[in-house]
Amino acid sequence: MSGHHDDRNGFNAAKIRWFESLLEEQGVLAPGEVDDFLASYVKQSNPNNGARIVAKAWIDPTFRERLCADAPAAIRELELVDQAHGEATEEAHLIVVPNSPGKHNMIVCTLCSCYPLWLLGPSPSWYKSLWYRAEAVRNPRGVLREFGLELPEQTEITVWDSSSDMRYMVLPERPEGTDGMSEEELAGLVTRNGLIGVATV
Ligand code: FE
Repeated sequence: MSGHHDDRNGFNAAKIRWFESLLEEQGVLAPGEVDDFLASYVKQSNPNNGARIVAKAWIDPTFRERLCADAPAAIRELELVDQAHGEATEEAHLIVVPNSPGKHNMIVCTLCSCYPLWLLGPSPSWYKSLWYRAEAVRNPRGVLREFGLELPEQTEITVWDSSSDMRYMVLPERPEGTDGMSEEELAGLVTRNGLIGVATV
């Protein structure tokens, strides 16, 4: 969120750029190689992947069960963008945490910025901010309030701390009044923030 900027981001970016130029000078990297890799990586990652998984889980209770028991195996059933990439990296270490009445989940990486990029698209800058990384654990209810999400007092909030070994994605609750909707329409309701757990859908 604005107002919670982490100044270290700029410093780290400068350090990384310096290191990159050293590798280019030494001929380890071709000029622009890192940029090209990142561009293709970001192109392959897409919040529509997460939204499609959620919509499928909403309409198919047996898929939902499989998804919550073994997310990587269940996700392989769907033909998502860049399946091979997902299998090779992030998908292998993924747990889907379902919201239910009275239970809300949110994800954070307290250490850095671990995030299921492949399913959610590029992570928002606030996710990497010192503010979010600290407060999500210390005061999750207050953080959700900053996002405009006021949960009932009795709702239990679980915060999942991501790491390089384990990523999480929230399975939001299906909104009321969506009974007649198609899978595609349902996927259109799902937002990136809902998959992180700072919004209800
Ligand atoms: Fe991290």
